[in-house]
Amino acid sequence: MSAKSEIEWTDATWNPVRGCTKISPGCAHCYAEVFAERFRGVPGHPYEQGFDLRLVPEKLLEPIRWQQSRMVFVNSMSDLFHEDVPDAYIEAVAAVMQHANWHIYQVLTKRSARLRDLLSTKLQSVASVPHIWWGVSVENRRVGLPRIRDLQQTDAGVRFLSIEPLLEDLGSINLTAVDWVIVGGESGAGARPIRREWVISIQRQCRTAGVPFFFKQWGGVRKSERGRTLYGRTYDEFPEVTRSSPPDRSRRMQLLDEMQAKLWPQPFVPVYGGQRPLRVLA
Ligand code: SF4
Repeated sequence: MSAKSEIEWTDATWNPVRGCTKISPGCAHCYAEVFAERFRGVPGHPYEQGFDLRLVPEKLLEPIRWQQSRMVFVNSMSDLFHEDVPDAYIEAVAAVMQHANWHIYQVLTKRSARLRDLLSTKLQSVASVPHIWWGVSVENRRVGLPRIRDLQQTDAGVRFLSIEPLLEDLGSINLTAVDWVIVGGESGAGARPIRREWVISIQRQCRTAGVPFFFKQWGGVRKSERGRTLYGRTYDEFPEVTRSSPPDRSRRMQLLDEMQAKLWPQPFVPVYGGQRPLRVLA
């Protein structure tokens, strides 16, 4: 976990999975891959295996140790619903989120079909809890709009869209049952352009539908130069946040022991190796 995040719409990041594989046009310049690959082969570094997908079971219980309530972006360096992450491991991540309920969790995926299927089956008990927000990435009409439909078919209590990198005009978006929209342009080397009218179209649709709108950035090769204002102001809106009070230290330690006992009978052993399927070793 990173106790502080530079991502504008969250406080912290938590990565019980590291690494991923590309699935759609929004992945072309994946910042997580660029970051992770810098450390491939560096002995002892968390990204010694570069961007190869792997479970990080030693990170599973981290949120229970953090006393201060935070907004936590789950798997900023991966995709929890990646096809090689076992259901049992996703259930373990969900169990930690359910019990460490003094944080707000922001779970974002491009694998929306798996999100939809699990939220109506193995993750049903956590789908609608108010401190776990479920979101999908939307970069264009072809792959992004079907992801919104998948999200709308779930019983998620809080649903959000991360429309970043916005690669084209999305046209008319169905915002039914959507609780939050984040919009941003691509940043970094090779950043693809964003147009002001695409952003304004989404912002207006959010206004009409009464959906909080968060404008993250214009992006570009040097994103700090282009800033994040629209109509001369920032848009930093959030859905209504329901927070539970953090428990004291002794209760957190007790919870840690309970969760350890609950999750550890099935030892999740990190399995390395790029595209190979991951296994839960019993
Ligand atoms: S799904 Fe996300 S983490 Fe995975 S490659 Fe694409 S952009 Fe990167």
